[in-house]
Amino acid sequence: MTNVILLGPPGAGKGTQAKRLVTERGMVQLSTGDMLREARSSGSDMGLRVAAVMDAGGLVTDEIVIGLIREKLSHGGSAGYIFDGFPRTLAQADALGDLLGQMGQRLDAVIAMEVDDGVLVRRITGRYTCADCGAVYHDETHPTTRPGVCDSCGSTNLVRRADDNEDSLRHRLMEYYKKTSPLIGYYYAKGDLTRVDALARVEDVAAEISMALNKG
Ligand code: ADP
Ligand code: AMP
Repeated sequence: MTNVILLGPPGAGKGTQAKRLVTERGMVQLSTGDMLREARSSGSDMGLRVAAVMDAGGLVTDEIVIGLIREKLSHGGSAGYIFDGFPRTLAQADALGDLLGQMGQRLDAVIAMEVDDGVLVRRITGRYTCADCGAVYHDETHPTTRPGVCDSCGSTNLVRRADDNEDSLRHRLMEYYKKTSPLIGYYYAKGDLTRVDALARVEDVAAEISMALNKG
């Protein structure tokens, strides 16, 4: 049982690496961004309430995202969780520690995915994903083999996110530096942090993460 947080700014490659861990290790990816997008597309009250904040690149309230994670963890039974895009505030980090503690579990590793801000605009504006299986692609660095067809599941339902534009990215980055980046110091002080060069090739980043998990 391994529980890991992937921590880094938008575009660092958290989702890409989470998907690999799901395939290679049978772990469960818990992406609060995906959960919130699902809530939006289902048209739930909560989904409608968070839509404007997400499009502008702001953070949804702690109460909502902690509630989403609590619900997923209460189902139990997995080879370990990959927290992708959660926690994003100190309050969320404390809540996660409490939730895992209540389940008799702990965090095994926190991976700080380090990138230069300069690459993020390119990564985010070139990103598209498969709406059916969640596979992540990029116009330049990782396009689908056949244009318009997902390599993983064959779907032609490839989509771009509404918030993957430069304006929203600027706001998301601001939120990241103000509210999320302090978590790097927090987890470093707790002794859980491993820094990974997320500018490297996807395979090399994966190898570094794997090494950190095998140590943990
Ligand atoms: P995050 O989940 O952290 O926002 P993603 O995993 O969605 O980031 O990656 C953002 C974009 O960058 C995607 O288009 C993805 O294909 C691309 N990408 C991810 N990792 C790398 C990498 N190591 N090198 C180049 N491009 C990458
Ligand atoms: P992501 O898919 O991780 O890039 O998240 C997309 C958007 O969802 C963010 O810009 C926020 O508006 C919202 N969001 C996702 N996770 C969180 C979180 N842990 N706390 C607050 N807002 C979140």
